[in-house]
Amino acid sequence: MNPLSSSVAQPGPPLWLLAELTYRCPLHCAFCYNPVDFARDDTELSTDDWLRVLREARAAGSVQCGFSGGEPMMREDLEVLVAEAHRLGYYTNLLTSGVGLSAERAAALKAAGLDHIQLSFQDSTRELNDFLSHTRTFELKQQVAARIKEQGWPMVMNVVVHRLNIDYIGQIIDMAVALGAEYLELANSQYYSWALLNRDQLLPSREQLQRAERITNEYRERLGDRIKIFFVVPDYYETRPKKCMNGWGNVFLTVTPDGTALPCHTAKMLPGLAFPNVREMGLREIWYESEGFSRYRGDAWMKDPCRSCPDKEKDLGGCRCQAYMLAGDPAAADPVCDKSPAHDKVSAAVARAQQPGTPGAPLIFRDPRESRRQAGCAD
Ligand code: SF4
Ligand code: SF4
Repeated sequence: MNPLSSSVAQPGPPLWLLAELTYRCPLHCAFCYNPVDFARDDTELSTDDWLRVLREARAAGSVQCGFSGGEPMMREDLEVLVAEAHRLGYYTNLLTSGVGLSAERAAALKAAGLDHIQLSFQDSTRELNDFLSHTRTFELKQQVAARIKEQGWPMVMNVVVHRLNIDYIGQIIDMAVALGAEYLELANSQYYSWALLNRDQLLPSREQLQRAERITNEYRERLGDRIKIFFVVPDYYETRPKKCMNGWGNVFLTVTPDGTALPCHTAKMLPGLAFPNVREMGLREIWYESEGFSRYRGDAWMKDPCRSCPDKEKDLGGCRCQAYMLAGDPAAADPVCDKSPAHDKVSAAVARAQQPGTPGAPLIFRDPRESRRQAGCAD
């Protein structure tokens, strides 16, 4: 059957829709995953555009919808979008810093059918949380955690882990338990976007990582079923890359605030690829026919060492963005792989991370002005 002729909402690719509603965010995290040049273009899709995207993605087969940003609470129409996603039958997830999640809006989102909230914290102490986000948000996040519990959502907490907070992993877990979290994701920063700018300040040493994993395992044993703790290692400490996004154009579709459709949320950086916009093309056509979604599907695009590698099915050559950022070629093997000719870039960063102390250069915090400066735009 021609996939373009079907309009039945059977589950099928793209199973996951990530709706990046806005790049506006009151926080300024030094590891932010938004593009460094996010402020180059501040246009945002209208409510009607997003409603159409939700319907088209569902008709194409999407079953999970994540609302993220920036801070998605900055959109006043969030409740409308969640209600439509719920009506269409998606499992809905909100990824938030908590800023803007008042008691009234929490109740409205519950009434709209929101299934799941993931609340991010930067650290277990006010000082470090507020330093890393460059805002005073620690108490507010605690209040939001209580609101999430009050509304009966599972409490899912996410903390990005790096050199500056990894030594407090035990306190972070204690905080998650005290706030009644059922799930805690200790996600080591991956080095893209703002985190790549700050990599030397953020990449932990091997000793820090091993200690954090050991402490996490001790807590897991002690706490049993009370809380499920995930610990995600930075891929710089691996010798094989991850199967990025579970394969290019396989499962995930991201729509950025201005309507650009991407196979992953950082792919817009890749040179020589025109990504379609949902204002100009339907989602089925984007998924099945656009060059942006086809270029790195499967393995026909691979060069050696991936092309002749027995492991190519396992990881599909890793991440195209990391290949571009570190090897300068989006069709190269991900330099995390120790068979990559550019693996020395990763090894050198890891070697620097073994030096004691914190590198002297100041952290670069994410904000629109810095973004324009990094993009070379006049302010
Ligand atoms: S990582 Fe921090 S700055 Fe970036 S969108 Fe999330 S809360 Fe905002
Ligand atoms: S050479 Fe390529 S396919 Fe083989 S393990 Fe490395 S990244 Fe994966």
